[in-house]
Amino acid sequence: PPPTLLHPEKWCRGFNHFISQCLIKDFEKRPSVTHLLEHPFIRQARGKDMSLQKQLADLIQAQEQLGFVAKIRYERIHTRRPYRVDAADKYSLDDDLVNLEVLDEDTIIHQLQKRYVDLQIYTYVGDILIALNPFQNLSIYSPQFSKLYHGVKRSSNPPHIFASADAAYQGMVTFSKDQCIIISGESGAGKTESAHLIVQHLTFLGKANNRALREKILQVNPLVEAFGNACTAINDNSSRFGKYLEMMFTPTGAVMGAKISEYLLEKSRVIKQAVGEKNFHIFYYIYAGLFHQKKLSEYRLPEEKPPRYIDNETGRVMQDIITKDSYGRQFEAIKHCFRIIGFTDEEVHSVYKILAGILNTGNIEFAAISSQHQTDKSEVPNAEALDNAAVLLSIGSEELQEALTSHCVVTRGETIIRTNTVDKAADVRDAMSKALYGRLFSWIVNRINTLLQPDKNICNAESRMNVGILDIFGFENFTRNSFEQLCINIANEQIQFYFNQHIFALEQMEYQNEGIDATTVEYEDNRPLLDMFLQKPMGVLSLLDEESRFPQATDLTLVDKFEDNLRCKYFWRPKRVELCFGIQHYAGKVLYDAYGFLEKNRDTLPADIVVVLRTSENKLLQQLFSSPLTKTGNLAQARARVTAASRSLPPQLSAGRIKIDTMEMMRHPEETTNMKRQTVASYFRYSLMDLLSKMVVGQPHFVRCIKPNDHREALKFSQERVLVQLRYTGILETVKIRQQGYSHRILFEEFVKRYYYLAFKAHQTPLGSRESCIAILEKSKLDNWVLGKTKVFLKYYHIEQLNLFLREVI
Ligand code: ADP
Ligand code: MG
Repeated sequence: PPPTLLHPEKWCRGFNHFISQCLIKDFEKRPSVTHLLEHPFIRQARGKDMSLQKQLADLIQAQEQLGFVAKIRYERIHTRRPYRVDAADKYSLDDDLVNLEVLDEDTIIHQLQKRYVDLQIYTYVGDILIALNPFQNLSIYSPQFSKLYHGVKRSSNPPHIFASADAAYQGMVTFSKDQCIIISGESGAGKTESAHLIVQHLTFLGKANNRALREKILQVNPLVEAFGNACTAINDNSSRFGKYLEMMFTPTGAVMGAKISEYLLEKSRVIKQAVGEKNFHIFYYIYAGLFHQKKLSEYRLPEEKPPRYIDNETGRVMQDIITKDSYGRQFEAIKHCFRIIGFTDEEVHSVYKILAGILNTGNIEFAAISSQHQTDKSEVPNAEALDNAAVLLSIGSEELQEALTSHCVVTRGETIIRTNTVDKAADVRDAMSKALYGRLFSWIVNRINTLLQPDKNICNAESRMNVGILDIFGFENFTRNSFEQLCINIANEQIQFYFNQHIFALEQMEYQNEGIDATTVEYEDNRPLLDMFLQKPMGVLSLLDEESRFPQATDLTLVDKFEDNLRCKYFWRPKRVELCFGIQHYAGKVLYDAYGFLEKNRDTLPADIVVVLRTSENKLLQQLFSSPLTKTGNLAQARARVTAASRSLPPQLSAGRIKIDTMEMMRHPEETTNMKRQTVASYFRYSLMDLLSKMVVGQPHFVRCIKPNDHREALKFSQERVLVQLRYTGILETVKIRQQGYSHRILFEEFVKRYYYLAFKAHQTPLGSRESCIAILEKSKLDNWVLGKTKVFLKYYHIEQLNLFLREVI
């Protein structure tokens, strides 16, 4: 079996910390026990205490055989070069930025850069993991590595994403508490990859006896991502939805099921993509797969030219499909995912038919019927696409045409049929495609949840525990920012707030617990911003909803409304551009273009279309349009969860800000009863609160992904780009919090064990008490330290000084 690591403390038990550090360093430089036994410290000890020497030799031998070999092997693979200790590094404490002597931007950037070019992509800032995207495959995610990071202390191994997953798992099993891992960062920074790796490691740790279940869980991400990810200008596999994946475990830590929640799928991508971008992956997979299997005609898809929705740069797609077979292989992979997870053949067939139906719908064109009196009427000149769509969706082609080219209005109890202009008909067509895709996506997610539901016979709901993994789009700021960017940025604002609260609240809690009167830690509070967005009735989302209810309102009246009501320094309106407004987000200034905001928020699907789709003979399609849009549980459930969670929080926390803020942020969520009139904004607000209610229940772990350059190039580190991200993800703030506060909190006993040489003789064995600590600290002439009830609180620089003194004394 592969070795498990022995912790260095065990390694040199009986030696003081400083000596063991020196010995470890020496050993790292020259991993030979014989050499080590010649070390001056050992020789010194040899004269005094033979048993100590023997003990050391035994331990080193054991360590060499077990841990160190593994550690060195790790370093070799990790850095792809022989393990080397930089002479300038006094201690290998640089795995954690909090240990740095100087904590300014420059030092941190240099440190990260130095590590990055050494392929050390992971670094800690206290309990937070920074992950730099390597833009190349590293061989550090194999099962050997899963074993290396299995149930060990964090300091035993270099920082790693598996260590975060392991910490969450250990936290869950040890304290019987739900955990959540929050992954953030901008597009292309590596969030989704990190989420995969966490699921991989958790499935390994949750050693399901049930192999089938393990297989199923591993297929969830690839399947959902085929439908929710797309190629964008920034990332070839960009997630176009937010995802919260909960893995459920028994009290003993065996994985027993999973559940996904999805947020804000970018439906507009179905009908249109920016230049250089593509539609959702699944459309290409299915088109190419059927093309290679010569089955396109079975799904009534054109063979000569791919449908309009997936061919925005005419010709390119077809060329890709013919020359490369990767799409075709992906199609097979998706078929495999469906099968493993447990979808029936009939369901999969229905899904394909709906997808092909959407593609054909996109090809329906309209022409104006121009008679003298009626110029606002449209028809479908070429019935082929219309008929194909109707057949695939199992609806009547006449009815479909009717619903696309006309609509009924009810005035004063009378129903009047009005015709649609060409533009209006095209809008209705696209709205139908978006609705079809959006609901199909939600259905797939719900179906996966049903298929991966934990077995109630194994463990009841109360004793179940879970680890949730949040992979949600990062902050976005493009040349043109629309409604989608606004929602995404609000979500990020909310997550940042949660992050601040957590880091801040925990810090305060420890001081309180230890009875320390520490100065309040300053941090950039984005709470006023959050209020500006979520407040009722004068917040951005409420104003948007209100304006969406007026038929006469326009995008311009909306911006006027914002300007009149948002009296807040975070909002401004540039003079010259009418439809433009700016917001100073925590992560930077963003200019939004309000064009289309009202329409996007209303997201109306004409009633006539719904009626037609409900008549479908395709059972799945009927289902998609029969039930109201409720996707997640109801509001009452979410509230109950928060209330229950606040009860289980430590008193300091529940009396503090986390609970209060959460309740406050959930103070006026949209009721879900009137789903017909539900807007995107109100549904978004609701799902954000739902997400939050899940997050506050768990113990959080933060992973901050950082994109080292914009060219997806390995080993390239742009200091400016990294600095911007460090700034707005609050890393610098966090490091500062640690700097202002006491970054090292060491239990009395531990402290005495490490530093007793500074105040006591070698043969003395002082108690691990408060008094011994004071003796050591006073003898060392340090100031600014504080003693709590059980711990010594030290500033980051104290450790350096203590170690230096220790060196002099010895
Ligand atoms: P995000 O979800 O933050 O937008 P992704 O996770 O999709 O970003 O990562 C973008 C790309 O970066 C991936 O497709 C992959 O090529 C590369 N990448 C990210 N993380 C890693 C990693 N740990 N190892 C190798 N490549 C990675
Ligand atoms: Mg992603």
